[in-house]
Amino acid sequence: MIHYTCDYCKRQLDSENDLRYVVRMEVYTAIDELDDISDADRDHLQEIQDILEGIEVDGDKQVSEDLYQQLRFDLCCECRKRFLRDPMGRRLTAHFDFSEN
Ligand SMILES: [Zn+2]
Repeated sequence: MIHYTCDYCKRQLDSENDLRYVVRMEVYTAIDELDDISDADRDHLQEIQDILEGIEVDGDKQVSEDLYQQLRFDLCCECRKRFLRDPMGRRLTAHFDFSEN
């Protein structure tokens, strides 16, 4: 039997009573300016794009984390709400901004 833990509050999730939510994030180098750049840069970006496209095919885990990272979190119901209210975690760092409401 698999036990899951909320990655946010570390509470263990009861598979019978707790709903579990999965957050999946992909962070990768954006490439959408291929037509406007010099040939040297284009080669470089094309290379990156080749790598990114290769990920889909091979599931290659060797790709640099600078180029592509996939993250996955399990959340409990409460933390799901918290996450969706503030997906970028900005409230945690904006201690001095009380104007937001
Ligand atoms: Zn939680």
